[in-house]
Amino acid sequence: MIIPHSRPLIDDEDVKAVSDVVASGKISQSEKVREFEAKLASFVGTKYGAATSSGTSAIHLALTGLGVKAGDEIIIPSYVCAGPYMAILHAGAVPKIADLGVSEFNTNAAMIKRRVTFKTKAVIVPHMFGTPAEIEEIVDLGIPVIEDCAQSLGAQCRTRRVGSFGRLCICSFFATKMITTGEGGMVLTNDNEIYDKIVDIREYDKKPLNAVRFNYKMSDISAALGLSQLKKLLRFIERRREIAAIYDERFSRHNVILPRTHPSSTSVFYRYVIMVSKLKSTQRMARKSGVICERPVWKPLHQLLHSTGFPNSDYIYDHALSVPLYPSLKEEEVEHVAKTLSTIFKETDASMC
Ligand SMILES: *Cc1c(COP(=O)(O)O)cnc(C)c1O
Repeated sequence: MIIPHSRPLIDDEDVKAVSDVVASGKISQSEKVREFEAKLASFVGTKYGAATSSGTSAIHLALTGLGVKAGDEIIIPSYVCAGPYMAILHAGAVPKIADLGVSEFNTNAAMIKRRVTFKTKAVIVPHMFGTPAEIEEIVDLGIPVIEDCAQSLGAQCRTRRVGSFGRLCICSFFATKMITTGEGGMVLTNDNEIYDKIVDIREYDKKPLNAVRFNYKMSDISAALGLSQLKKLLRFIERRREIAAIYDERFSRHNVILPRTHPSSTSVFYRYVIMVSKLKSTQRMARKSGVICERPVWKPLHQLLHSTGFPNSDYIYDHALSVPLYPSLKEEEVEHVAKTLSTIFKETDASMC
């Protein structure tokens, strides 16, 4: 049995939704995109949604919509994929990298504050692995916040869904995310001026040459898949939480650090990330039994930039291991993962952190 680290859940209903659109011949950005935008905005709790070709293009549009220009500084945490970093460079801005909170997967207000200068234009806050960052404290800093909900659709902070706190929010619908359109993204906001600007510059056709515009549109083919997936999102989350509870129960007998939940927020378990002391050997042993565990972030940004002074990110990078958890896992696969890792933990218990 080989259990991959990720695997999307595409059912017959998804296939039919996509093939209906393809057969209709109306395949580019049209009604399906508008419907997907409206439904996702309403799900998250914002007024507007603008669908895009990817999460990265959504961040680029969000920054441009905020009026970010050359030389402006944008704060991002070190422990994230390179997508947000690339979007900042595309906007001509300067990324300012913040460390994480101590033993946290997310950055926090104190770490962000250290990077604020008179050139700071915005902060991008990912809710890593589906666990909300302390978003209210971060919003209170008074810097425009772009919430990065690429991994956290449906997660809640108190009674509100993440994505509804920041000036803007971006989502990604890459194959492995909470819901997928193959590739795709969205910008969400309550700000009608920013929304109008984003919709304007998302496409270039039949417009004067008075601004730099893109083609960052989503197709109706993708949106049809997104709509069909969105219908199932709450079920996906429920299943993810069920599996997380099984892992919690099975792994709590061993000397590993389990994913932490905060009293005021709920995680959607985009990833189930544990902290182990022997990351590489645990990963190797799991692989031998067909369980593919991964480092949930390939490399922290500061390490890619050969920079130092990010001890909390370094610590997380050295110990964080992502265990397969997604709604397409079958009962016997969940059991195989739980059993395989429990055995490994038992064998190496003495050396665990
Ligand atoms: C996946 C992801 C992105 C980028 O999304 P793409 O659709 O791959 O461009 C950005 N931020 C986070 C936190 C992500 O997980």
